[in-house]
Amino acid sequence: MTTPTPRPGVLDIEPYVGGLHSVDGVERVIVLASNETPLGPSPKAIAAYEADSRKLHRYPDGHASDLRAAIGQRFGCDATRIVCGAGSDEVLQILMRAYAGPGDEVLYSRHGFSIYPIFARGVGATPVAAPEKVLTADVDALLSKVTDRTRLVFLANPNNPTGSYLPVDELQRLRDGLRDDILLVIDSAYAEYVTRNDYTAGNDFVDRHDNVVMTRTFSKIFGLAALRLGWAYCPGEIADVLNRLRGPFNVNAAAQVAGIAAIEDTQHTDASLQHNDIWLPWLTTALGGLGLTAHPSVGNFVLVQFGDIAQASDAYQFLLRKGIITRMMGSYDLPDCLRISVGLEDEMKALTDALAEHLGRS
Ligand SMILES: *Cc1c(COP(=O)(O)O)cnc(C)c1O
Repeated sequence: MTTPTPRPGVLDIEPYVGGLHSVDGVERVIVLASNETPLGPSPKAIAAYEADSRKLHRYPDGHASDLRAAIGQRFGCDATRIVCGAGSDEVLQILMRAYAGPGDEVLYSRHGFSIYPIFARGVGATPVAAPEKVLTADVDALLSKVTDRTRLVFLANPNNPTGSYLPVDELQRLRDGLRDDILLVIDSAYAEYVTRNDYTAGNDFVDRHDNVVMTRTFSKIFGLAALRLGWAYCPGEIADVLNRLRGPFNVNAAAQVAGIAAIEDTQHTDASLQHNDIWLPWLTTALGGLGLTAHPSVGNFVLVQFGDIAQASDAYQFLLRKGIITRMMGSYDLPDCLRISVGLEDEMKALTDALAEHLGRS
């Protein structure tokens, strides 16, 4: 007799390591580890969440119809081709289950979001990483890694943790270089933060092409990470596939009502964006002033390169002892880097003061 054995690939998975939210022995921590919005969710989303607590015995709307209508209206998408999930993670995972399996290859960029290889292995497929240029996805490198077995290409745009992005013409070149039977998934988790003219979140690509899906999240600028809410905008046939595979009640009722309230409160997201537009450049410049390499970012976080693994790790530990939580990047093949999210004004100043102290520059 042998014990139950998981399918091939499962035990090759390096489990995802999330950011910390507490430090032993430190009462007030500064959390800059998970790219959450420092301004929190819309007060209207909190009110909707609280009001929903009266109806916990009722199943949610399994089609999330009102939520999809609200999303469609705000983002200019056809609501019938939106599929919601428990975080965009779930949507990414369902896409993987639907289109890849043993023997298939799933392509991503070397320093791309770490969940892609995890989900690829989870379905028995082989994750294939394409090299980057200056910590940016490289279209030629991605296309050169395509084989007969390639089924999916995942691109976070902008990418976490590098903060870089592909402009629309490069994105088009990537899509046009792929066979029609390969699905391009554009993960636009940070789209709301990008203020560049040559950027597209990807709605237009989905409307134009049968092999492109865009995924979005409520975990970042909308401030609802705890509720787990994300969505995909798909060609009709792909939406149909995802709706067959997903759980019938995969998006809980609280997430649906809070999501609608959050999406309607444009004042709140405008405030979050304004905050980021001030403090992202401030943080980038301040880190540069400390002699560190802060990679230019269009998201709500900065990747800081120390050039040496021990220096990155020492800085991380020093900050942690001060109650400032950043993120180590070993799992992204960037062990000499830390990723730091944009926080509140006093948090940004506490971070740079602490780093200055650590580096002996204060
Ligand atoms: C944070 C993030 C997400 C969001 O995941 P959720 O499951 O929606 O919380 C998706 N993709 C990238 C690249 C991210 O950084």
